Amino acid sequence: MAGIAALKGTVKHYDWGGSDFIPGLLLTDNKEQKPFAEYWLGAHPQAQCSIAWPDGTTTGLNEYLGQHAAAFIGEKVLKQFGHIPYLLKILDVKDMLSIQVHPSKKEAERDFAEENNRGIPLDSPQRNYKDDNHKPELMVAMGEFWLLHGFRPVAEMKQVLTDTPELAFLLPVFDKERYAGLYKKVMTLPQEEVNRSLQPLLDRILPVYKSGSLPKSSPDYWAAKASVTFPGTNGAIDRGIFSVYLFNLVQLNKGEAIFQDAGVPHAYLEGQNVEIMASSDNVLRGGLTTKYIDVPELLKHVKTEATHVQVLKGDTAGEETVYKTPAPDFELSAFRLAAGAATAFTASSAEIIMLTSGEALAVAEGEEVLLQKGQLAAIISAGTRVVLQTKTRAVIFRAAVPV
Ligand SMILES: [Zn+2]
Repeated sequence: MAGIAALKGTVKHYDWGGSDFIPGLLLTDNKEQKPFAEYWLGAHPQAQCSIAWPDGTTTGLNEYLGQHAAAFIGEKVLKQFGHIPYLLKILDVKDMLSIQVHPSKKEAERDFAEENNRGIPLDSPQRNYKDDNHKPELMVAMGEFWLLHGFRPVAEMKQVLTDTPELAFLLPVFDKERYAGLYKKVMTLPQEEVNRSLQPLLDRILPVYKSGSLPKSSPDYWAAKASVTFPGTNGAIDRGIFSVYLFNLVQLNKGEAIFQDAGVPHAYLEGQNVEIMASSDNVLRGGLTTKYIDVPELLKHVKTEATHVQVLKGDTAGEETVYKTPAPDFELSAFRLAAGAATAFTASSAEIIMLTSGEALAVAEGEEVLLQKGQLAAIISAGTRVVLQTKTRAVIFRAAVPV
């Protein structure tokens, strides 16, 4: 292969996914209406990507990289990370995801080794750490997108605890013990007390939610939706509903982005996005889930402090908008091209480009890949200069490594 080849990713059918959006991009028919939650592109073992050659044959990406890693990834990134360090995804969130937090690099290395020492199998449901990597995440909204992101600043926290009578009992806890005490309280409250607080709340908000008169800008809307999505077993109300009120409720518009660093609790609520992250699967959960929750482990990693939400609009130079973050593992940018446009860039390491609307031709060193619905992505080797040409308007995301 010269510098560029068509790339095919893998669909993840998690039950929270929508059934139309990703099939529409991949031109896959979905008569059974299966959930298409995520589309993965990268060298992560679970991404199972393949290179699609012009003659119609395919080669597994990791198999190919096994033989051509140095030339493909570039010496510098290969030396620093040993592989392609990022994972690029499209997400279609129909039902909210679990509340989660990701460990820092240092914590992941220490705690992954510790679980290995304790002999917990990698595929055990009791396993917290799947690898020794951190998982900072950046997402760009493809339309209106809603999420929970970090704890509300002090004044807003007091306001929401005052405005929600069923949660007023938490106000003195917050006044005295701030974020650490407040979060520990809700995460360790006996289940009967969780029910005693949340049942009257749900009794009050569910009829309003069902009548359709709650706006999405109200945490009541998402708390009610959460109780419908996660009804709980044996009458136990999911304590994650507390967090819907404690965290910042953020609305992003198309093209806006947000970065989630280690320790920032978050939950995606609804919408479609393009997401890039360090190649890792380390997730600690804090509710709104049927999966394993390890509360002491979660409390160890959550940054118990206020988060002042920073919506990123990106830095635009020419047709490329770069969403800068402190993560060393990735850099995401978007080309928003007019019809008949041509623009060029040079890949600094192994890069993946992914089309999300329109159609574009990517040309490099005598090879070309037509990016269109059904063939969204291409992979580019380090040092390759790529020209993007369009006949229609097009949006193309570029996943790179900052070097
Ligand atoms: Zn996450």
